[in-house]
Amino acid sequence: MLHRRRFLQLGSLGLGSFSLASFYSGKADIRKPIVISTWHEGIAANQEAWKILREGGRSLDAVEKGVMVTESSQNCCVGLGANPDRDGFVTLDASIMDEYANCGSVAYLERIKHPISVARRVMEKTPHVMLVGSGAQQFAVEEGFPLEPQQLSKEAEKTYKNWLKKSEYKPVINIENSGNHPNQTAFVPTRFENGEFNHDTIGMVAMDAHGNLSGSCTTSGMGFKMRGRVGDSPIIGAGLFVDNEVGAATATGQGEDVIRICGSHLVVELMRQGLSPENACKKAVERIIKIKGDKAKEIQVGFIALNKQGEYGGYCIQKGFNFAVCYADDKNYMVDGKYLL
Ligand code: ASP
Repeated sequence: MLHRRRFLQLGSLGLGSFSLASFYSGKADIRKPIVISTWHEGIAANQEAWKILREGGRSLDAVEKGVMVTESSQNCCVGLGANPDRDGFVTLDASIMDEYANCGSVAYLERIKHPISVARRVMEKTPHVMLVGSGAQQFAVEEGFPLEPQQLSKEAEKTYKNWLKKSEYKPVINIENSGNHPNQTAFVPTRFENGEFNHDTIGMVAMDAHGNLSGSCTTSGMGFKMRGRVGDSPIIGAGLFVDNEVGAATATGQGEDVIRICGSHLVVELMRQGLSPENACKKAVERIIKIKGDKAKEIQVGFIALNKQGEYGGYCIQKGFNFAVCYADDKNYMVDGKYLL
C-alpha cells in the first residue's frame, strides 16, 4: 500500500517515467554505503573503512579496519600511543557489533595494539561478549596477537610527566575549545602538551552497500584515570549499539554519564520511535543534562548516529565536538556537532 501511494505521488509530480523501478522499491533515496566516526581522527579512519565499503564489502570489516588506523597512530589519542592511567599504564577498551546483533568487547586490556580486533575475536570465537584485563590479554596472545612492550609513546610520556607534577585527580573528560584544540582546525592528530586534552576515543558506525549496519568503538579511556577504571566504550548499549532494523549509534566523552543512560541503546531506540538520528542524539544529551543539572557544564558527551536510510546526525553537551562523514571517494568531511549548553 505504502509503495503504491508513493508511486502515485511521484506520478503526480511528473516523475512517473524517472527511475521508476528504484523509486517503487523505495530504495532510491537510501544513502549507502556510508560511514561516520567521531572526531577529526575519523577522517583517516573513514578513508580506510571506505576502501572496503566502496568495493561492496561488509560493514563489519569496514568498522574494524577503519578504527585500526587510529589505534595504530602513535600520535593519536587511541591505542598504545595514548595517555596512560594515573599509575602510568595504558589500558584499552573496545567493542564491536554487527548486523546480526553479534557483539564482542574487551576492557582493561594492556600491551595489545589492536583491541578492536581482539573484541571481534571475542565475538566470533567465544560464546561470550566481554573479556577483561589479564584474561582478555591471555586470550589475545592465544589468538596470535603480539604482546607489545610496556612503554609509553614519547608524547604520552611527556604528557604524563607533566600531569605527575600536580598529580591532581580530576576524573572529568575535558571540553574541547574549538580553535584551541589543534584537531579542530586541521587534521593533525596530536594532543595538548600540558595534558589538557584528556579524552581518547574513536566510535564508528557504517552501513554497507547491502544495507547492513555495524559499529566499533575503541579507546584508552580517560587520561590519568584510576587504575582499573572502565568507561562506556566497551559496554554494548552504552558506548556502542547496532540494530540492523533501525540504526546504529556510538558515544564519546564522559563514559560514566553515557553508561548511566545506556546512551547508544537509547539513541537507537529513539530512532525506532521515529526520531531522526540528530534528534535522537539530542534527546539522549538532554537526558544527561537533566540528570547532571549544574554539573553538566563540567562535562562533555557526544553521540553520533546513522539510520537505515543513511541519514546521520550528532549532538553533544558543549561546543567543540565534531565527527567525520564519508559516503563517496570525494566526500569525507567534518561536521560540527550541535550542542545544548
Ligand atoms: N568515553 C570514553 C571513556 O569514558 C572517553 C572518551 O570518549 O574520550 O572512557
